[in-house]
Amino acid sequence: MKIGRFIAEALFPARCHACDAALMAGERFICARCLHDLVRTRYHSVDDNPMAERFAGLIPFQRAAAQFFYRPESDMAVLVQDFKYRKFPGLARYLGHVAADELLPTGFFYGVDALVPVPMHWRKRTLRGYN
Ligand SMILES: [Zn+2]
Repeated sequence: MKIGRFIAEALFPARCHACDAALMAGERFICARCLHDLVRTRYHSVDDNPMAERFAGLIPFQRAAAQFFYRPESDMAVLVQDFKYRKFPGLARYLGHVAADELLPTGFFYGVDALVPVPMHWRKRTLRGYN
């Protein structure tokens, strides 16, 4: 680790976006406890997948999933607000990796050629800089 980064992290340790606790070595954006406590939907493993039902007839797709529940006033809401409105695109990428890592062993991605995010209006994308 470079000395400048070492000093910066010693003076200003990275904090959990959900609970504001100092992050431990190996943690990124969110502490292990908060990450564990995020409520998973398990939609990918049920026959009456609410995500698939929501998009049925609107767009062609093979599978749909949402890894985490979003509830106002929840830790997930804080995380979403941070990556959507407080310029933390790395947090969004990190949560995407977490979701992918958790879905991969389920076979959800078997035979999948492409993943498509929920589209956003071009104006919002321009303002935010990413989807
Ligand atoms: Zn935390």
